[in-house]
Amino acid sequence: MRGKLITLEGIDGSGKSTVLERLKAHPAMSRVVFTREPTTCWIGEAVEHAIHSDTDHLAELFLFTADHAEHISKVIQPALEDGKTMISDRYSDSRYAYQGVTLGDRFDDPIKWIQSIHSGWTIVPDKTILFDIDPKIAVGRCGNRGEQTKFEKIGFLERVRANYLRLAEEDPGRFMIVDTDRPIEKIEADVVELLTSVVQALY
Ligand code: ADP
Repeated sequence: MRGKLITLEGIDGSGKSTVLERLKAHPAMSRVVFTREPTTCWIGEAVEHAIHSDTDHLAELFLFTADHAEHISKVIQPALEDGKTMISDRYSDSRYAYQGVTLGDRFDDPIKWIQSIHSGWTIVPDKTILFDIDPKIAVGRCGNRGEQTKFEKIGFLERVRANYLRLAEEDPGRFMIVDTDRPIEKIEADVVELLTSVVQALY
């Protein structure tokens, strides 16, 4: 049987990485394959380079998208064909939400345009968990981890959050929203419960 793909999305500082580290150690997740975007391959490294420089926004989008294509062909597609359940820390919705902001002055509806260049080859996740939080709280958290990237500014993240909420509204069957302005133990418990029920329901 074909495997399943679950993605975790949310603005910087929403708590994804923290919950993921705990999830990886959870017995219920022992057979799950964890992956992420940007990937750690050379294209993913180029993406990191773009994130930490003033690269043209369209060029940046194409780097992210190239990394996504490589991720799908080398990791996602083979694992799904092998019947695995995968959890990806960020995936296509990160592009729609983030580059939907950075390309706001170049396209009338940048989200739709970015979705259109993914159409026909991307693999749409079976379920997406959106870690939702007020950017003011998220940025406060990021401040604790040293140097901030260009994406970790409150005004910017407010627009990214709005994009994520729009994506969730447009696809309510796929998205599940988790409020992450709560103690980490509560979020972890909710996410594990969600994932366990999702994995059971998907098979
Ligand atoms: P993301 O991966 O979504 O960017 P992180 O998991 O790296 O976010 O969290 C950013 C910072 O916030 C980290 O320093 C982390 O320790 C802290 N943090 C994460 N979740 C919580 C929480 N529920 N309550 C308080 N602080 C948190």
